[in-house]
Amino acid sequence: MTAPALLARPRVEVARSVDEAVGRLAELGPDGAPLAGGTWLMRSATPPGMFVALHRIPELRGVTTGTWGAMTTHTELAAAPLPPALRALRTAARTSAFPQVRNMATLGGNLAARGFAEADLVPALLALDATVEVATAAGRHRIGVGDYLRAAHGDTADPAALLVSASASAPAGRRSGYARLIVRGGGEYALVSVAISADLDGTGVASAVRVAVGSVEARARRCPEAEAALAGTTLDEAAARAAGQAAAAVLTPRDDLLAPGWYRLAVMPAVFVRAAADCFADSVTEEVR
Ligand SMILES: Cc1cc2nc3c(=O)[nH]c(=O)nc-3n(C[C@H](O)[C@H](O)[C@H](O)COP(=O)(O)OP(=O)(O)OC[C@H]3O[C@@H](n4cnc5c(N)ncnc54)[C@H](O)[C@@H]3O)c2cc1C
Repeated sequence: MTAPALLARPRVEVARSVDEAVGRLAELGPDGAPLAGGTWLMRSATPPGMFVALHRIPELRGVTTGTWGAMTTHTELAAAPLPPALRALRTAARTSAFPQVRNMATLGGNLAARGFAEADLVPALLALDATVEVATAAGRHRIGVGDYLRAAHGDTADPAALLVSASASAPAGRRSGYARLIVRGGGEYALVSVAISADLDGTGVASAVRVAVGSVEARARRCPEAEAALAGTTLDEAAARAAGQAAAAVLTPRDDLLAPGWYRLAVMPAVFVRAAADCFADSVTEEVR
C-alpha cells in the first residue's frame, strides 16, 4: 500500500548548478519542484514526488547592490546596506515573519510560492520595478517581476522555470519605503502591506511614483490610483492618507481568519502613512527585531 502524501518521506536531489537543476526539473515535470528555504513547502499538503534542492548552487547566492540571487535570505536582505532607493526591500525583509523563518526563507521562494497573498518581498519588488532572470530548458531570459508573477502563478506555468536573481535600479534622488500591519506584534502574516517608490526632485516633489499593495487581494499588485494621488506631492502625511483612500476605493479585499476585508480597507490609509514615512527613515538607528 502506498503511504499517503503527508506521511511519505520527501525525496530530495541536490543540484550543483542552475543548468543541472533546470534539466532535472524539466525531466520531472509536475512531479518535481525546486526546494529553497523550505518554509513554504514544508506546510504543503500535496508535496511533489521529488524536490530539487538549490542550496549548493553558488550562482543563486550572490548579493550585490542592485541584484540579489534567488537564494538570498530575508535575513541577508535585512542586513544589506541598501541605498535609500531600495529601502522598501530591506524593510520588507526585516519586518517579515520572525528571525528563525527569515534565516531560511529566500527571495526566490517568496516570489515563487503560489497562493501566498501575504508574501512581503513581492509588493516591495513590484514597487521597485524589479526585473528577474529566469532559467528554463530553452535558455535564460529577463522579465519584469509582474510578468514573472503572472507566468509563474498561472495555470500554464513551466515547472522547470528557475528564478535565478532579481535586480532593481537605484538612481540618486529615488526613495522607497514599506510598511505592514499586524495585530499581535510579531511572526504574523501582514493584514495589509504597502510599498512606495518615488523619484524626488530638489524640492522633494515626487514623480515616477510606484505603489504596490499586498495581503489585501489574492495577489499583491500595483495600484495606479494611489500612484496618481502621490505624484506631485512631497509624500507628506496628508498625501499618503489620500493615496490610501484611493487604494481602498479600488481594491477588492479578501476575508480570511486574520481579518475581514472591510478592516483591511479601513486601515489602508494608516499603512500608507507609515510606508511614506519609511521612505525617509534612518537605516542606521533602526533595529532588526
Ligand atoms: C510560521 C511562518 C511564518 C511566515 N511568515 C511570513 C511572513 O510574514 N512574510 C513572508 O513573506 N514570509 C513568511 N513566511 C515565509 C515564507 O514561507 C517565505 O517567505 C517564502 O514564501 C518561501 O521561501 P522559501 O525559501 O522557504 O521557499 P520554499 O518553501 O523552499 O519554496 C516555496 C515555493 O517556491 C518554489 N521555489 C523556491 N525557489 C525557487 C526558485 N529559485 N525558482 C523557482 N521556484 C522556486 C518552490 O518550489 C515552492 O513552490 C513564513 C513562514 C513560516 C513557516
